Amino acid sequence: MLNKDWFIEKINTFLREDESNRMTGVDGSLFWEPDVLIGFCSGNDPIFQEYKKLVGPFHLTPTEAFTKYCELNNIEYDSTENLTVVAFVLPMNPLTKKENLEYSQDWPSERWAHTRLYGEKANQKLWRHLLSELKREFGIEGVAPMLEKKLFRMYREHEDAWQGALASTWSHRHMCFAAGLGSFGLSDGFINERGKAMRCGSFLINHKLPSDADKRAASRREHCIKCGQCVKRCPVGAITMEEGHDKKKCYDKVFSTVPYIGEHYKIPIYSCGLCQVGVSCSNGIPEKKKLRCNN
Ligand code: SF4
Ligand code: SF4
Repeated sequence: MLNKDWFIEKINTFLREDESNRMTGVDGSLFWEPDVLIGFCSGNDPIFQEYKKLVGPFHLTPTEAFTKYCELNNIEYDSTENLTVVAFVLPMNPLTKKENLEYSQDWPSERWAHTRLYGEKANQKLWRHLLSELKREFGIEGVAPMLEKKLFRMYREHEDAWQGALASTWSHRHMCFAAGLGSFGLSDGFINERGKAMRCGSFLINHKLPSDADKRAASRREHCIKCGQCVKRCPVGAITMEEGHDKKKCYDKVFSTVPYIGEHYKIPIYSCGLCQVGVSCSNGIPEKKKLRCNN
C-alpha cells in the first residue's frame, strides 16, 4: 500500500544502504541521517499559483510540470486531478554540523563542502530511486522537475525573481512549506523538526495521497523566533533583523568559496551554511519563549 510509511521505509533504507550516501572522500560516514521527514500536498493546491508571485512567474505549478513532462516524453495521462507533490527533509549528519561550526568563521568545513557536492548527488539519486520504485511496484508515473533539463532552469539576476537574485522553476523548500513540513527563517533557511541544517527534495506523482496542507505553517516565518543568531553567524552581513536575507549578498559570498574549497579540499563546489549551524533552529523548531543555542 502506498502511504507515508512506504516512503519513510524506502528513503531510510536507501540512506542506510546506498553507497552514494557515504562520505567516501572524508571518513565514509553518512551524509544524511536515516530519519527522514516527509509530507504531501495536492498538485492542485492554490498555493502553487501564489508561488508564481512569491518566487517568480516562471515557477512551475505541479500541473504545468507534469503536463510538460508528459508532452516531452509522449506519455499519456487521463487527468491532472490526482497529482501529489511529495516533499521531504534529509537530516544532516551531526558531525558535519559540529565541524562547520568549529572550523572557521569565514569558510565552510571539508565535510560541509563534500556534503554540498556529493550529498546532493545522493539526494538526486534518491529521487530517481523512488520514482523507479513507484513505477515498478504500483505503475505510478512521476517526475522530479529538477532532474529534467527542459523543465528546470535557474534564473540569475532575473528581474522578476524575488529580490532580483537567483531563483528557479522548482523550489524544494517551497514544496516542503506547501507540504506542511515547516517554515522559512530570517536567513531563508527552512526550519523544520529535523533542523535547518539539512537538504530537502521533492517530486510529483500522478496518484492521489492525503494532503498535509492542514499542517502548513500559518505564515512564511512562523517557526523563526527572531533570535538573531544567524545574523551574527553570517560573515558578510547578508542577514539583518530588519530586512531578513539579502540573496544577492549571500550568493556572492557562497560563490566566492569555490577557489578556497578547490585549494583546501580539492573538489569543485561552492558552499557556506555558516548561518545554519550553532543557532537556535539548527537541530529543530526552536521553542518560542526559550532562546537556545544547540550545536
Ligand atoms: S537563527 Fe534565529 S533568527 Fe535566524 S532563522 Fe533561526 S530562529 Fe530565525
Ligand atoms: S549561507 Fe553564508 S553568506 Fe549566505 S546568509 Fe548564510 S552565512 Fe551568510
